[in-house]
Amino acid sequence: MIAKDKICAVAAAADALGMWKQLARALRVTQTVELRLDWLSGDEEIDRFLARLAKRPPRRATLIATCRRREAGGKFRGTIARQLVHLAAALRSGCAWYDLEIESSSLCPPELLDVLLGEGRRIASAHFFQRSPKNLRRVAADLGRENPDAIKIAAQCDSLARSIEVLRLARGRTASRTPIVAVPMGDVALPARVLALREGSALAYAPVGNSTAPGQVTLDEMKGLYRADQLRRKTRVYGVIGNPIGHSLSPVLQNAGFQARHIAAVFLPFLVRDLRDFLRSVEPLGIAGFSVTLPHKQAILRHLDDCDPMAAAIGAVNTVVVRGGGKLYGYNTDYVGVLRALGRRIPLRGSRALIFGAGGAARAVAYALAESGASVCVCARRAKAAKALARAVGGEVVERSRLQREFFDAIINATPVGMHPAADRSPLSARELNCRLVFDLIYRPRVTKLMQLAALRGIETVSGVEMFLAQGTAQWEIWTGERAPLEAMRRAVLRALTREEKMVRR
Ligand code: NAP
Repeated sequence: MIAKDKICAVAAAADALGMWKQLARALRVTQTVELRLDWLSGDEEIDRFLARLAKRPPRRATLIATCRRREAGGKFRGTIARQLVHLAAALRSGCAWYDLEIESSSLCPPELLDVLLGEGRRIASAHFFQRSPKNLRRVAADLGRENPDAIKIAAQCDSLARSIEVLRLARGRTASRTPIVAVPMGDVALPARVLALREGSALAYAPVGNSTAPGQVTLDEMKGLYRADQLRRKTRVYGVIGNPIGHSLSPVLQNAGFQARHIAAVFLPFLVRDLRDFLRSVEPLGIAGFSVTLPHKQAILRHLDDCDPMAAAIGAVNTVVVRGGGKLYGYNTDYVGVLRALGRRIPLRGSRALIFGAGGAARAVAYALAESGASVCVCARRAKAAKALARAVGGEVVERSRLQREFFDAIINATPVGMHPAADRSPLSARELNCRLVFDLIYRPRVTKLMQLAALRGIETVSGVEMFLAQGTAQWEIWTGERAPLEAMRRAVLRALTREEKMVRR
């Protein structure tokens, strides 16, 4: 064991004060902190920071000193001798551990390391920022020969399959039972990074401030959102697949539900460029279900063993349940989301609703409305797409030029026009809004330009947040078989959106 707190915060700043502040912030979350001395701007700044640390070493913390040279992917420009001098000073200042990369250790006589750094405990590390050797076990064996106290292997992964190979390192043990730290790097590997502790890795790194390696998860996310240190082998894994996926709010929504109900499950964002690579990882990662977003909502249908009839009719799946034997079953909860968000506000049966747009979301809206007995009108910039959708649900096409003269019970925007960062745009003009209610599927921002125009005309509005919450809580219920803790999930999403909106205003 390296430390009791297995989430290791990474403090990395250019000046001593910044580093000190990061250390203080890190200690509020975890008592294990790696100090990246190589990020400090030079020898003087390293000395200044270590002098401060020596004066006030945090008592309960396990500190790991790293001064990685540029040759090994770090920022330190000095010689190996200088690197060792800094590491020795760090040990005297309160660090119990130091990390020494193979590029340096292989050039140092072991006796020298013993004399200079003998009082500290060593993590022998190897980093592969581009290509990594096929046989990572051999790398672990080579590192083990240096007789370190722990071994760390960080490897760039361009697929989930490769991330799983890196994780497997953590499951195996070396002959000497030396703890292993497995670090899958890269944006595709982010879920594996979070799952590393569950697989037996001795640590999982997370930056306090700037990212220090590709595909990192911030400290707050690692601890608060994913609870990486509480994941056990029996923890169920869920996720959302898409490309891009970085801005998905689904992890916030779903994890809030699991936490509120004390369910041993975690929900992770999977950046999926290659659907087959993801599907092959379902069994080894123990994935019990997943959400599907753009661009995979249609493509996933080909890989399902079975599908809910409504999802098949819509031609898109946003929810998959993994059943016994790895069988995949698909649903569409966008459809449920529309019904819950809209059905609460107006009686749908017998109403007349206009859908603006004819893409994937418009299809879910159209089927939901038609199924509830509304008369569906479709208006889209491509006449052919509008006609096909209207025909599919027994509705009619309404030309754009007729909007100023027609009246609807509801107008639904199913285009991305008005979405952040182009939030000053509206898909329709004020004069085209002749209706009782406007429902904008967009949820960034929460109040769109279209909703503002509607409100000025005294028209009731519904935000896309309502649909997002409704489709997401329906997914949660499908996966868990329990009633979703709606308030906790809503609060988490609204808090995240408020935070984002504040950042945008800054
Ligand atoms: P999509 O499949 O790409 O369809 C977009 C539709 O908008 C297409 O009909 C497209 O027309 C049309 N469009 C795009 N730009 C336009 C413009 N400048 N003027 C007029 N029409 C335009 O996307 P989607 O999956 O349906 O998503 C649509 C919106 O719904 C997105 O903003 C998405 O974030 C939102 N959404 C929200 C939720 C939720 O839970 N709240 C769920 C799903 C989707 P062309 O075919 O001619 O390009």
